[in-house]
Amino acid sequence: MIIVLKKDSSATEIERIHQELSRWNVTTTTIPGKQKIVIGLVGDTANIDTRQIQALSSSIEQVLRINKPFKQASQEFRYGEPSEVVVSTPNGFVVFGQNHPIVHIAGPCSVENEEMIVQTAQFAKATGASFLRGGAYKPRTSPYAFQGHGESALGLLATAREITGLGIITEVMDTADLEKVASVADIIQIGARNMQNFSLLKQVGTTNKPILLKRGLSATIEEWLMAAEYILAAGNPNVILCERGIRSFDQQYTRNTLDISAIPVLRSLTHLPIMIDPSHGTGRSEYVSPMALAAIAAGADSIMIEVHPNPTEALSDGPQSLTFEQYEKLMQQMNNISKVLGRCMQTSEMLNSVHLPKFAPTLFPIASI
Ligand code: PEP
Ligand code: MN
Repeated sequence: MIIVLKKDSSATEIERIHQELSRWNVTTTTIPGKQKIVIGLVGDTANIDTRQIQALSSSIEQVLRINKPFKQASQEFRYGEPSEVVVSTPNGFVVFGQNHPIVHIAGPCSVENEEMIVQTAQFAKATGASFLRGGAYKPRTSPYAFQGHGESALGLLATAREITGLGIITEVMDTADLEKVASVADIIQIGARNMQNFSLLKQVGTTNKPILLKRGLSATIEEWLMAAEYILAAGNPNVILCERGIRSFDQQYTRNTLDISAIPVLRSLTHLPIMIDPSHGTGRSEYVSPMALAAIAAGADSIMIEVHPNPTEALSDGPQSLTFEQYEKLMQQMNNISKVLGRCMQTSEMLNSVHLPKFAPTLFPIASI
């Protein structure tokens, strides 16, 4: 349930409303938006008569129930105001969100050795990317395939971060590794295969690191948003959703089917920022650029692409990795498309001119959902 207050409501009146609400068995939080102030209520709201709440104050404009199974992830929870996920990197703050420049992220599937990761990071930085991606712990279909270099690869990501100042995105597969991964990652990735690993979701929900939640291989949009709800409900409001292709019946020509329609669908359902990964979405380097451009045209807030200094030698996902030259060309095209749509790609010069949101919403413990 949310309570919509007039924009000019005084702090004392808002505080008084919170006090009054404490009589019911609910947790409340204020979400200050650009147009309205919203108080979110989570808990046993089914038996509350909305008219009783309406009568609490003349500052209350509306009392609305959220009828979706995902509450805090729903667009209604912020009364249509898109959320902003602010990430601190050594080079400055980066904001993911609908009203911000499009963030682009490049890097290899796996961290292979120091030379390749540093070289790729330097290249990514030169293109204006704000983050380097790279797997240390790799979820592989075959137990005999390269599993990632683990902890030593985290050390190499830390080196690349130190040299370039780029933020790091890397995956955590196991709650046992969370602390190690969080010590290097600026954004922690939950991979497609772990989208419904609920203990992992609850655990990352207790950290203060932004979480990149990939869509499961065969997950519906609602299952995906419910997975995000686990993280929000555990207290971490910084979730970015990443569409990376879903299983379809034709796997002869593409590895997955990139669901571009997920972008407008998510927009209508959630306030969370949206990322597209056309590399896993297609599995073939020749299809990555067209899908990256389509994603920008459809309104994605961020694009993540696998890039490798020598894709034919890559230890994982070589066939879908772009060369530096291909990525540079794509970058030019992404710039052009975003301008046509009245947006722009994030550049390194923008990092220190970010206006940080004044308040970060605090969310609720899972027990109260
Ligand atoms: C990855 O990003 O390297 C990865 C394994 O992605 P996904 O979980 O989408 O397959
Ligand atoms: Mn990969």
